[in-house]
Amino acid sequence: MDPVTASLAELHDRLSSLADGEVADYIPQLASADPRTFGLALVSMSGNCYHAGDTDDLFSIQSVSKPFVYALAVSALGPTEVARRVGAEPSGEAFNAISLEPGTGRPANPMVNAGAIVTTSLVPAADARDRFERIRACLSAFAGRSLDVDEDVYRSEAATGDRNRALAYLMRGAGSLAGDVDETVRTYFRQCSIQVRVADLAVMAATLANGGVNPVTGDRVIEEPVAVRALAVMATCGMYDGAGEWLLRVGLPAKSGVSGGLIACSPARFGIAVHSPPLDRAGNPVRGVLALTELSERFALHLMHQP
Ligand code: GLN
Repeated sequence: MDPVTASLAELHDRLSSLADGEVADYIPQLASADPRTFGLALVSMSGNCYHAGDTDDLFSIQSVSKPFVYALAVSALGPTEVARRVGAEPSGEAFNAISLEPGTGRPANPMVNAGAIVTTSLVPAADARDRFERIRACLSAFAGRSLDVDEDVYRSEAATGDRNRALAYLMRGAGSLAGDVDETVRTYFRQCSIQVRVADLAVMAATLANGGVNPVTGDRVIEEPVAVRALAVMATCGMYDGAGEWLLRVGLPAKSGVSGGLIACSPARFGIAVHSPPLDRAGNPVRGVLALTELSERFALHLMHQP
C-alpha cells in the first residue's frame, strides 16, 4: 500500500469507532444517514486519487457548494462587484444566523447561508433555470464529471427552508439581494441538493488548491486570482463559528456541509475530502475535523508552518 493510502486507511480505522456528534435531522434524507459512514479521499496536483473507507456513498453537497459558487460569481462579475453585495468577514455566528452588516445590509461572508444566497443570486443568467444550469455546470467542471440533483433532497429543502426564505426577504429589504426571492432561494436549495461522492469533493478541493486547473481533467475552471480569493474566504469563514480554532489547529482553507462533507485545500499540494455525517455544535463533521487535525500535525501542513 502506498504511504498516502496507508495514512488515510489508518485514520479511517482509528476514527471509525468515534460516536460523538449528531446527524442533521431537519430533513428526512439527512436524518436517515448512517452515522457510521466514513470515507476519505485525497487528490494530488498530478491528479492521483487516494482513498479509504466508504467512498461509494452519494450525498448532497450542501454548504460545500458555497466556495465554488462564490468563485463562479467572482469570475463572472469581478471581486469589486461581488464585494458590494457580500462581505468577507468571519461572522462568529452559526451558519444560518440572521445578521446583516449595519448600513449596507450585506451578509457577513459567502460561506454562511445569507451570503451564499446572495452569491447564488449574482450568477448572471437569462432566468432561474439557466442560473442553476450554470451553477451545475461549474460544480461539474470542478469535479471533472457531470453532477446531478437529488430531487428528494431538493423537495425537502424547499419544503422546510423558511429560515433561508426569511433571510432572503430581509436581505432584499436591506438592498443586498436583488431579484425574485422565491426563485433565488429555490436555486440555492437545488445547489445544496447536488449529489456527490467524497472523491468528487476531493477533486473539487484539488482544483482550488491547483490555482483553478482541475488536476484530473487538465481543464482550467477558474482563473488563479479567483481561486486564491475563494481559498482566502474559506480560510477565514469556511468552518463557521469554528473557523478560528480550525485555522489555529489545522491551518488550511476548508469548507464543511450539513450532510457531513468537508473539504480542505493544501495549496499547490493536494485537495482532501471527508464524508462522515455526525456534526459538532458548529455544524462541522466531527470525524472530518479530527482527521484533518491529525493529518495537519503529522505532516506539518499548517500554512503558517516554515517549509
Ligand atoms: N441546505 C442547508 C441550509 O441552507 C445548507 C447548510 C449547511 O450545509 N451548513 O440550511
